[in-house]
Amino acid sequence: MGVDFCPASDQTVPMSFWICATCAVEHAEKTDVCAICEDERQWVPAHGQVWTSLPELAAAGTAVVVTELEPDLYGLTARPPVGIGQQAKLVRTSAGNLLWDPLGYLDDDGVARVRELGGAAYIVASHPHMFGVQVEWSRALGGVPVLVAEADLGWVARPDPVIQTWSDDVEILPGITLSQPGGHFPGSAVAHWAAGAEGRGVLLAGDTLHANPDRTSVSFMRSYPNRIPLSAAVAERIAAHVSRWSFDRLYNNFDGVVPADARAAVQRSAARHAAWARGDFDHLT
Ligand SMILES: [Zn+2]
Ligand SMILES: [Zn+2]
Repeated sequence: MGVDFCPASDQTVPMSFWICATCAVEHAEKTDVCAICEDERQWVPAHGQVWTSLPELAAAGTAVVVTELEPDLYGLTARPPVGIGQQAKLVRTSAGNLLWDPLGYLDDDGVARVRELGGAAYIVASHPHMFGVQVEWSRALGGVPVLVAEADLGWVARPDPVIQTWSDDVEILPGITLSQPGGHFPGSAVAHWAAGAEGRGVLLAGDTLHANPDRTSVSFMRSYPNRIPLSAAVAERIAAHVSRWSFDRLYNNFDGVVPADARAAVQRSAARHAAWARGDFDHLT
């Protein structure tokens, strides 16, 4: 009689971390419910918390797809989508690249493509919904720093020495500056890329200011899926904050974009948001 060394079917390969199937944020340990999804800004599926893993997502055929959005700016998506389904951005500069709003998934081909494009000098999420598997991306790209807004550090579910905190304004690479208008989360951030849009400037806005489908306006919300608005004062504060930057184009954390005149679009959008929140248009309801 031989000895069957095959693992029994109820055994699983030990996982180094888990991924919430709803938000795709990495967790060092499984919890009863993902704290990010339990929060009023997100949601837990009706059938309860679901955890997944990189091997499980890979076995389901998930792949990272990289597309050029404009010169030196690439969008990364997981197909089929993972979690919230964001489009990560890779901004290239001669001094190194920024990986922004990292996906909640990675694979060898996706990592190889990012390395071909110059890798990443920094990994930064605009806010905790976009943490994805940021530590895993860092490991795959050589242990590069993962910057997390000091105000939102409590949402990190997979602590790691690669994580560093930041606040205020930080020019992380020549011509790429991070700042925190807040709003959606206290540390909700934007990245200003001066060389983007043929030198007219780009704002990577996550959903700190969310580019709308009309491509001419943005929204300011505490929760997008649960439709919780921010106040008039906060919308105006966010618009005033980003008016420090010169930019013509604004990208959100999906495939949404305000392709031109975005700086003015932000100011118009904040004024409209404030007017509706104040009740100026109640006669239309
Ligand atoms: Zn979650
Ligand atoms: Zn969000």
